[in-house]
Amino acid sequence: MLEAIAEEIRRCTRCALAQGRMNAVPGEGAADADIMFIGEGPGAAEDKQGRPFVGPAGKLLDELLQDAGLPREQVFIANIIKCRPPGNRDPRPEEIRACREYLDGQIAALNPQVICPLGRPATQTLLDPKAAMGKVHGRPFERDGILYVPIYHPAAALHNPGLRPALVEDFKKLIALIEHHLQ
Ligand code: SF4
Repeated sequence: MLEAIAEEIRRCTRCALAQGRMNAVPGEGAADADIMFIGEGPGAAEDKQGRPFVGPAGKLLDELLQDAGLPREQVFIANIIKCRPPGNRDPRPEEIRACREYLDGQIAALNPQVICPLGRPATQTLLDPKAAMGKVHGRPFERDGILYVPIYHPAAALHNPGLRPALVEDFKKLIALIEHHLQ
């Protein structure tokens, strides 16, 4: 099911982002993952490789996962949009809407117990269009039997090193919540 969705994404021309991409980035990870990380969209490195979170933000995410004892291979990592916006601008509402069916399909196929939206666009798309990261980061929200824990996007901590301690703290909370939730 996940591979069928990925194939569809690679051929997709539903929104204008198809025109500028080198590769669509469907997402990757364990087909039986209990935990799903959902970021904003592919950047330059991801567009080049067709894989999610392989640039500098991905390196930081890998470090956080490693420190948490959560191997990347055991989780599923995706984005709310699957093609790179020009210049890494924020995804537009119509692009998020056009791509939503793929993300919903991935969530349905995986049926994860915990979803971790990374950053504002993913959090607003998945939880609340008015959510402010300063208020919701590191807090758990239960919805339809899934535990949502929004945290800052690793890229935000790279742009603003002052956010890094909050991200590290959020990750610790996330791991504690996961351990509790998956018991
Ligand atoms: S961003 Fe999503 S909807 Fe737009 S072309 Fe890529 S896969 Fe299709």
